[in-house]
Amino acid sequence: MHETSRTSSASDPLAARLDGVLARLDAAAQRSGRDGREITMLLATKTRTPQEIATVVDLLRARDRRIAVGENRAQEIAKHSDPLLVDNGVPRHFIGRLQTNKARDVVAFAEMIHSVDRADIADALERRAATAGLVREVLVQVNTSGEESKGGFAPTLEALGPIMERLRASGSLRPVGLMTIGANTSDDETVRASLHGLRELRDQAREQLDVPELVHLSMGMSGDLEIAVEEGATIVRVGSAIFGARA
Ligand SMILES: *Cc1c(COP(=O)(O)O)cnc(C)c1O
Repeated sequence: MHETSRTSSASDPLAARLDGVLARLDAAAQRSGRDGREITMLLATKTRTPQEIATVVDLLRARDRRIAVGENRAQEIAKHSDPLLVDNGVPRHFIGRLQTNKARDVVAFAEMIHSVDRADIADALERRAATAGLVREVLVQVNTSGEESKGGFAPTLEALGPIMERLRASGSLRPVGLMTIGANTSDDETVRASLHGLRELRDQAREQLDVPELVHLSMGMSGDLEIAVEEGATIVRVGSAIFGARA
């Protein structure tokens, strides 16, 4: 059992923020005929301490939620070996920009890699996973907003065809879905269009590229998680709305 002090929102600002996020998620799920408990709450852990992460993991467990921990930065992978976090049974994901020279660390750390955004990174991950005797789930990152600062394949079947073929031929990487970072704007309809586009692309890729195992949609962050849930997100990636603003 968990101590009541850890699960009571009144006494703990972290718990209060978390409960606010879960209420938003559940309301959006309900509006679209879904159950909020089916959606994985991925904690975006960049800049956070092992203590902060462990506290939120305990709170989510007490609330019976699907959890994953998502790191952005290869340099921050080491903190997940802290005694507070190691062997806690929470799946580890990698969600950040990938560099080929960090592929080994990322493959060792993460059972799911969300950010395959170009062919050469798929090759590097494949090589490292095969050498280590590991099989890793991957999501293909798609640039649904057209913003130049964002990585990812163009949101077309033509752009996805070759990478899906490569991944399906791989013995060590399993493509299980698509990931996007929504448009960076306060205009909800623009955000919705980009997230809706990811869902349509996944459905088309499943059928027309013959990749039935594309089940996941990793989309939605602190600012747009309701829209993402309404548009079918299976994994939302949340940092600041739970942990507080980053320094
Ligand atoms: C930081 C980050 C998030 C979470 O962002 P917040 O706005 O803090 O919720 C989600 N996805 C990726 C790829 C990130 O880098």
